[in-house]
Amino acid sequence: MNGSSSQRSSPPGGRQRARADNRRGWQAAAARVREDPQLGLVSFFAALIALIVLSFSIYRFAQGQVGVGIIDTVIVVAVSAVGIGAWLPGQTERAGVLMAVVTTTGCLVVSLLFARHGLLWSYAVLTTNFLMTSRRIAIIANLIVLAILGSHSEVFANHIERVVFLSSGLLVTLCAFIFSLQSTRQRQALEHMAIHDPLTQALNRRAFDIDLASTLQAHQASQSPCTLAIIDMDHFKSVNDTFGHEVGDELLIEMVRTLRSHQRQQDRLYRFGGEEFILLMPDTHALGVQRALDGLRETIFQTLRRPDGEPVSVSIGAATLAPGERGAFWLTRADAALYRAKHGGRNRVMMANQFEQPAHSAADRRGALHD
Ligand code: GH3
Ligand code: MG
Ligand code: MG
Repeated sequence: MNGSSSQRSSPPGGRQRARADNRRGWQAAAARVREDPQLGLVSFFAALIALIVLSFSIYRFAQGQVGVGIIDTVIVVAVSAVGIGAWLPGQTERAGVLMAVVTTTGCLVVSLLFARHGLLWSYAVLTTNFLMTSRRIAIIANLIVLAILGSHSEVFANHIERVVFLSSGLLVTLCAFIFSLQSTRQRQALEHMAIHDPLTQALNRRAFDIDLASTLQAHQASQSPCTLAIIDMDHFKSVNDTFGHEVGDELLIEMVRTLRSHQRQQDRLYRFGGEEFILLMPDTHALGVQRALDGLRETIFQTLRRPDGEPVSVSIGAATLAPGERGAFWLTRADAALYRAKHGGRNRVMMANQFEQPAHSAADRRGALHD
């Protein structure tokens, strides 16, 4: 075997390990940016501004304009520090504010010292302030820029130029404000759609998965009790079959309205699928919760009506989270209790015991009941 083939067959060397570490580092950074897009925005602008101002700083030094070169260098260092600091845990928001402060101050200094060369930068700053930080802080920063520059007549060639600068600066601020407001509203609408069921407006299954993980984490830390109840409408299929799908839809909406008006503020309601809902109830003990759920069941029975006047009933299976229990098993215990509720005649609440066997899946539950 020659030297090169022995090198090829040797285990990964230091360089390969470094490359793998590097790749993992980039993947972790990309994951953080996916989770926190504002971090990506602040970092991107920090890098972009640092690069642009760095090239100006080199040019100024080359031209022998040491003073401006130093100011540009200070801006590069400050912006880079803010960009790097943004990656410290929980610092994105503060880094955005600092970016706005650094770029606003830099723009003011450059404008006051070098008049027109600096003035043109203010349009970029008036816009990026809305990308970096909250609308309130951006408006304050922009008004400061316009007030300070507007009160220095020596910055402008004449009075008209000052008026044009102030009006166009206000217009840019207004446009950036409206754009920021619209994108916030659209983001909120998308976030709402992502976690709500479009028919009933209850939280959806995706929201449940997210909340289940955080509930388990909180429970591990505090050990405070928490109950999960699966609420399933009885004989719902016959409503659809007899009165049509639209009437079924209306009944689902009505049921969510009723459940909502009776849940506590800290409880969360999810549509788990079809006519099946989950109520997640933090700080609840098994005994008290059974009474509360029975009250809920009775309220639905007394108030919800099919078009033919027949009462609508629900069956409920509930389980209180056991110490160290996995989410899937918690859910299965509640489902097994629901099976017992259905099997026992419906329109009732069953609490799961600690050792409830997940013997019956939802499909078994349906199959057994329609025998
Ligand atoms: P059980 O008492 O055993 O729960 O009987 P069920 O008829 O309520 O349950 P089953 O699982 O047999 O039927 C559920 C029905 O729910 C079947 C399906 O067509 C209907 N469904 C699911 N999603 C919707 C929806 O969004 N709107 C309407 N109208 N019906 C739906
Ligand atoms: Mg049902
Ligand atoms: Mg069902």
